[in-house]
Amino acid sequence: MEVVEFSCSVLVIGAGGAGLRAALAAAKELGDPREVLVLTKGELGRSGVTALSCSDRMAFHATLLHTEPGGPDAWKYHAEDIYMGGGEVSDADLAETLARRSAEAFYYLESLGVPFVRRPNGLPDQFVTDGSLYARACYTGPYTANHIEEALVGEVRRLGVPVREHTAVVELLKGKDGVVGAVGVDEETGENLVFWAGAVVLATGGGGELFRLSAYPPEMTGSGYAVAYRVGAELVNMEFLQIGLCSVATKLACSGSLLRALPRVVNEKGEEFLYRYLSDLSPEEVLGMLFCKGASWPAMYEEPTSRIDIAAERELDGGWRVFLDYSRNPEALDWARMDPEIVNWYKSKGVDLSDPEPAGSPLARLLRINPQSVEWLRERSVDLRRDLLEIAPAVQHFQGGVKIGPDARTSLPGLYAAGEAAGGQHGAKRPGGNSLLDGQIFGRIAGEEAARRARKVGTSALEELKALKGNGRPASEVREELKAIMSKYAGVVRTEEGLAEGIELILKLKEEGVAVDDQGPAFAAETLGMIDVGEMILRAARMRRESRGCHLFFRSPGDPLPLPRDDMNWRRYIVISLREGEMHLEAQEPVRQGWIKRPL
Ligand SMILES: Cc1cc2nc3c(=O)[nH]c(=O)nc-3n(C[C@H](O)[C@H](O)[C@H](O)COP(=O)(O)OP(=O)(O)OC[C@H]3O[C@@H](n4cnc5c(N)ncnc54)[C@H](O)[C@@H]3O)c2cc1C
Repeated sequence: MEVVEFSCSVLVIGAGGAGLRAALAAAKELGDPREVLVLTKGELGRSGVTALSCSDRMAFHATLLHTEPGGPDAWKYHAEDIYMGGGEVSDADLAETLARRSAEAFYYLESLGVPFVRRPNGLPDQFVTDGSLYARACYTGPYTANHIEEALVGEVRRLGVPVREHTAVVELLKGKDGVVGAVGVDEETGENLVFWAGAVVLATGGGGELFRLSAYPPEMTGSGYAVAYRVGAELVNMEFLQIGLCSVATKLACSGSLLRALPRVVNEKGEEFLYRYLSDLSPEEVLGMLFCKGASWPAMYEEPTSRIDIAAERELDGGWRVFLDYSRNPEALDWARMDPEIVNWYKSKGVDLSDPEPAGSPLARLLRINPQSVEWLRERSVDLRRDLLEIAPAVQHFQGGVKIGPDARTSLPGLYAAGEAAGGQHGAKRPGGNSLLDGQIFGRIAGEEAARRARKVGTSALEELKALKGNGRPASEVREELKAIMSKYAGVVRTEEGLAEGIELILKLKEEGVAVDDQGPAFAAETLGMIDVGEMILRAARMRRESRGCHLFFRSPGDPLPLPRDDMNWRRYIVISLREGEMHLEAQEPVRQGWIKRPL
């Protein structure tokens, strides 16, 4: 096997918000940008979530001097939202780091040109997002993440930080003193590449590709989790994934006004199936829940509206596709019997429901409260005037990842992690707006710490280079099968029986192996890694015998409601590592801090 070798002080794997921030911090700390090397799949600025994803208004949380409630303790409210909101199964010291350093991250991005919206009085505009008590979400609009990526790419180019594009890392290299580099594959030529480094920052993002439907851009395979696991790093909170209802064709999250317009939620037969699953509620209460669901995306144990996600998933499991129909009102909709709060909410938006036009049609209501969403969908070939909007649960975020401490170190010397690749900073839920933030904070810390270590150890050689495995079933086939397994067993509804079945199927895939097919060696190697990540999710989900945040655990498939949250036994997180060739899972106590107001 011919191998091309490179060496650098700090190797950064991934060029999203976290990776680019790490590269810039390492370049500054080393005093020479050329000592850093960034690797990315695809093109710089055109791969990963930060570069490509958008929503109606993307949030970046920051506690600034003027952020409510104000005062020297304002950071505590922010840290508490992250920690308590995360179901008390994340590390509180990491939440503190995020909150305390959020202003610094905001002003750094602004100095690079991110056009955060400011009010007429000149102060940054901030709004309240899901999971937060106070308005601390800064934004540029639907493309906040993309603006952050553009600004960081501009700075990386300006400073001349070397970037190798179209490079997929498939293994990390471990020497006697820790991680010393990585093995990659050139996605275009198939060439094998070896990168030696004094320290490595893992910033490879999440793994939407493990599921049939995800809100991620393509090729987010969670490869960072797999390569770190295989060299012995610890991972944490892998069972916690944000999953919510999305449009199948466009990946648009179906929240906010899309549900507040109260469309009919129907299956392929045209049946409004929610009444069947929520038969303990009156039809008006069911529609009231649908309205409230507009403010609670994704599915979460603590939100009663998750019953809608559960109903949709069960319908899909039964083989029926699910749609939102805006052409006419739900059959049970009678405004006189609806909660007056809903009518008042419409009034506050300037919509009078005594007018038969908005009262009589979901589309007319949606056009009044959010015409942009109708247009956005039309531009992507879904015309709500004519078409049903097909929906299904889709994965949008991995809360867990490679376990880090406040200095972004992993459990292995020489390996640092940041952004969605990292774990411990978020728990069972992730309050909106804090992922873009965590990429910036821990990206910076990881870059600085990695540079300090690289200066100390230099680059070392390694005795053995693992060859890529090549025997087994074609990678594309295996990947499709894996997606089917994960979507069936690790989605909104998770059962003991289903998870056990899923693990068995995954182990079978592992045993059969993965062969390189026409998608090339990087695709095959990543598929192999995806099997490990899938196993982590299923095993951790099976071990956590309770419901918390995004993890809804049902004792048996027919149970209408999931098991309750069990603080006595499960206010702990699950740490995963590879020990003597086996996947080892252990429930551990997270880091608590004295500033947490709720008694422990
Ligand atoms: C639709 C949507 C809306 C969201 N809205 C918000 C929001 O409003 N606020 C918020 O805070 N968060 C939001 N998030 C989450 C947030 O955007 C992401 O968590 C964050 O952008 C991830 O940044 P990252 O740098 O960790 O990873 P990414 O930006 O995904 O970058 C990962 C990088 O790693 C590279 N890579 C991956 N594997 C390899 C490999 N094996 N070898 C080499 N390179 C590799 C990729 O090519 C890419 O360059 C949203 C997510 C989605 C999908």
